[in-house]
Amino acid sequence: MHPEWKSILKYFTTPTWSICTSVERYPHNQSCIIIECLKNVFCYESYLDCINNDKRRKTLTRFRLSSHSLSIGTGRYNGITRNERKCVLCTQNVRESEYHFLLCCPLYKELRNKYNITSSWPNWNVFTKTMSDYSTPSINNVAKFLHEAFILREV
Ligand SMILES: [Zn+2]
Repeated sequence: MHPEWKSILKYFTTPTWSICTSVERYPHNQSCIIIECLKNVFCYESYLDCINNDKRRKTLTRFRLSSHSLSIGTGRYNGITRNERKCVLCTQNVRESEYHFLLCCPLYKELRNKYNITSSWPNWNVFTKTMSDYSTPSINNVAKFLHEAFILREV
């Protein structure tokens, strides 16, 4: 194996692996912010075994990786400044981020209630807790919510 690959593998498999250095380097990169919230240890994610439905598991994984159709991600490719990547589906005049999509956008309120993804005071701790609760019912509810919300968003 090439020594450089050994070095890379060692970096990613050390217990102290953290994405924080990426966030420090790219503080406005939404992908880094989401990953920092959800992934602070390099390991296999057990949610992958909890969700039997392939489409829902894929939707959740793409959401965690910021590989989705929300404006916060697509705006980057379309040359839209970060502050202008607004949610056009509601009147809150905020960026259509993962946070807004999961916890705030009123368009998905009924879906949140249906899948028990509710919070009287949404914040980043709630976001992290919701996305990191790998109990089978909870993470399946998040996956179901995301899958149905993305379908609703496209209608
Ligand atoms: Zn919205």
